[in-house]
Amino acid sequence: MQAMVLERPGEPLRLIERSEPLPASGQVRVQVAACGVCRTDLHVVDGELPNPKLPIVPGHEIVGRIDKVGDGTDALSIGQRVGVPWLGQTCGQCRYCHNGSENLCDRPLFTGYTRDGGYATHMVADARYVFALPQDGDDIATAPLLCAGLIGWRSLQIAGDGQKIGLYGFGAAAHIIAQVACWQGREVFAFTRKGDDAAQAFARTLGARWSGSSEDAPPEPLDCAIIYAPVGSLVPLALRAVRKGGRVVCAGIHMTDIPSFPYDILWHEREIKSVANLTRQDGEEFFKIVPKARIRTETVSYPLTRANEALADLRNGRLRGAAVLVP
Ligand SMILES: [Zn+2]
Ligand SMILES: [Zn+2]
Repeated sequence: MQAMVLERPGEPLRLIERSEPLPASGQVRVQVAACGVCRTDLHVVDGELPNPKLPIVPGHEIVGRIDKVGDGTDALSIGQRVGVPWLGQTCGQCRYCHNGSENLCDRPLFTGYTRDGGYATHMVADARYVFALPQDGDDIATAPLLCAGLIGWRSLQIAGDGQKIGLYGFGAAAHIIAQVACWQGREVFAFTRKGDDAAQAFARTLGARWSGSSEDAPPEPLDCAIIYAPVGSLVPLALRAVRKGGRVVCAGIHMTDIPSFPYDILWHEREIKSVANLTRQDGEEFFKIVPKARIRTETVSYPLTRANEALADLRNGRLRGAAVLVP
């Protein structure tokens, strides 16, 4: 098999050839058809997340077909089309696993971070955390749903049911969640980097009622806002944009420091909340909504061996929609 491997944070990924992994008991092996490139991969590659497994194969937006099964994986069969997400395994024993918050598990494993992921032709996954997908479908278009879609969905749930919703950072997650929010009958306000006219126009084609720069005040106060860009200075900007009692949700795993801000913009019961990881239930809910909301993803595909180029394009904001690697 081939894999793009990170040996040390800060270095480019290296193409390696090695023998195909064998699934252990409870595991399945997936022949990867497509793997999305998520901003979290950049944080892993750039060394912004602590204690990755090294060397590591990044990638946690995996669509493929099962080509080998270990013992005790009766729910899945060879040839089945599946998706493998960020949540690779949880302990099933800690207080969070017990109270329905497995996303906060004390002893988790994460695909492409603490276990090998999908920047490869093959990968092995714990069968209990794999999502069965419809047998037919566009693999490249589906890949970004596995994280941008899932984490986006969780962040939308946590934002609450406000009618006027702001999305800060109009990349892979926002372009999916804008469609879900419009389908739910909400009004979407899209905020991008200053001068990014292309992203602002893109947001309007996906149903946004208004789009503009993150420094702009929206035309009317928002009920809630979700920040997808890893930029801490957006937090006070979003707080200023939401109404009394409004909520600001930080959806990324890593953010630059949040600058200090006057208490006045948090006053009146405004809230700031972060979103961490996903639960399997989030996935089950979200994949039911995908066909109903007729979600279309915008993707740019790269051969697996050009993973470094895809990461660079994401880092430099050169993408419209989501990058996807194809082995
Ligand atoms: Zn746990
Ligand atoms: Zn991700």
